[in-house]
Amino acid sequence: MDCLFCKIANGEIPSTKVYEDEKVFCFKDIAPITPIHYLIIPKEHISGASAITAENSAVVAHIFEVAAKIAKDEGISDGFRIITNCGENAGQTVNHLHFHLLAGVKMGWGVEAVNPVE
Ligand code: 5GP
Ligand code: ZN
Repeated sequence: MDCLFCKIANGEIPSTKVYEDEKVFCFKDIAPITPIHYLIIPKEHISGASAITAENSAVVAHIFEVAAKIAKDEGISDGFRIITNCGENAGQTVNHLHFHLLAGVKMGWGVEAVNPVE
């Protein structure tokens, strides 16, 4: 399968690794939008949040455990945000489930709509 994040997870494409275990891989986003911007992905290919099922959902809980561990290990003490974009309207650009871990700045809250609802 020609999937960018599968290739990053198996080392075929280089990345700046933050954390790895047998189930997940975490690396720095190539175009950070906050001072700390990591991506946490399952090693198993799942196309996105809409493809999470009873059979594969355990890895999502594990990803949140890993996020808490990474925040602790990296000294992220002022809070962090986890986001997953699913599908075209949400701006998903890589079709391999990934969670953005954002930190290092005080963030606002809201959705910047490309085509605002009237
Ligand atoms: P999405 O837009 O799908 O929610 O997030 C995809 C993210 O992957 C983007 O924030 C983008 O900067 C990041 N990204 C895309 N290609 C690469 C790459 O080759 N290496 C790394 N480290 N990040 C990438
Ligand atoms: Zn993949």
